[in-house]
Amino acid sequence: MTLPVAVRQRIEQLKAGHEAPLCAYIYDLPALEQHVKAMRQAMPENCELFYAAKANPEARVLKTLAPWVDGFEAASGGELTWLHEQCPDQPLIFGGPGKLDHELDIALQYQVSAFHVESVTELRSLARIAGKRGVQAPVMLRLNLKLARAPQSRLVMGGKPTPFGLDEEGLASALQVLREEPSLELKGLHFHLLSHQLDVDAHLELIRSYLLTFRQLCRDHGLQLPLLNVGGGMGINYQDAAQSFDWPRFCLGLKGLLDEYPMGAIRIRFEIGRFISAACGYYVMQVLDIKSSHGELFAIGRGGTHHFRTPAAQGHDHPFTVVRGNQPAQVSDQRVTLVGQLCTPKDVLARQQPVAQLAMGDLLVFTLAGAYAWNISHQNFLMHEPPLKAFIEG
Ligand SMILES: *Cc1c(COP(=O)(O)O)cnc(C)c1O
Repeated sequence: MTLPVAVRQRIEQLKAGHEAPLCAYIYDLPALEQHVKAMRQAMPENCELFYAAKANPEARVLKTLAPWVDGFEAASGGELTWLHEQCPDQPLIFGGPGKLDHELDIALQYQVSAFHVESVTELRSLARIAGKRGVQAPVMLRLNLKLARAPQSRLVMGGKPTPFGLDEEGLASALQVLREEPSLELKGLHFHLLSHQLDVDAHLELIRSYLLTFRQLCRDHGLQLPLLNVGGGMGINYQDAAQSFDWPRFCLGLKGLLDEYPMGAIRIRFEIGRFISAACGYYVMQVLDIKSSHGELFAIGRGGTHHFRTPAAQGHDHPFTVVRGNQPAQVSDQRVTLVGQLCTPKDVLARQQPVAQLAMGDLLVFTLAGAYAWNISHQNFLMHEPPLKAFIEG
């Protein structure tokens, strides 16, 4: 893969400004903005786009996205506070299992626009805390649907036993609590069953079942709800980025579905993480050493999975590009395993990769490193220095 010119230039600047071997995250903010703008423009009417901040809560990333999204999804009290500080005017929605009373309370203080309630216990806690504050909490009930065909993907949060959401059988008792508690107001239902979805047709079928279930449940329980949250989970194909989730085609299909099942004034809300921010990030490691071990070549880069856990978390070979320095090649047309500085054989970013040319001092630039990357990494392991952080501006 060839790197965008702006990324190449930023890398050269970083290298020129640093004596020590380079280790850095680079975020391409104009590319991020262009991407989210295009996503937005493709969406049918009556649809909303929230950013699931847990994918990458970097302040500059949030501020770049803010004008183009309807708000941010937080999955903890920490994220809520961070989002509130960084983007005080953005609507916030609050999900995740095991919410603390204290977190529910600060969410009320920040006036979040929806609580994604994951259990009846949580619903009762929210009623009590909102009651104490004398306010009404906007509630979305998260449901773990039983579908005729279980969703297929590498990361499934529903359609099977999971800690997330309520079973459909639990809906009646949740609705009973909602009827009894004047401090709660039901706004809608929430479904997020999977991540890493690459198959547009399968996802449209899933959305179809969400729409049908939403209608059916509203009918069965005599509800009139303004909102249906259909989650996120659009996937990135790390081995072939061009084969990632086809958002424009999905949006066309979605428009077809909404024509087929008119939702009136009901709004369809997406909360997407990975698919929004993955492509804007790059993780750069300078090669410190190249060695042969029992017949296999290893390149040891500055940094490792303690900065960039994505390949270890996904169990995949992460895509990368070599930016050559000025040393003659030590490796030519050979397979090399790319590792970091940690004293564990698990510190591998890509195994046995074909490399045209490589020498010490070259840079390994890992692409698609903008989501579930730095912030999911065990940064304190071995007490190495953190990577530099650099941004490409508009
Ligand atoms: C993580 C998460 C998302 C975002 O998932 P992506 O795969 O990053 O799009 C959305 N909703 C919920 C409830 C989540 O837990």
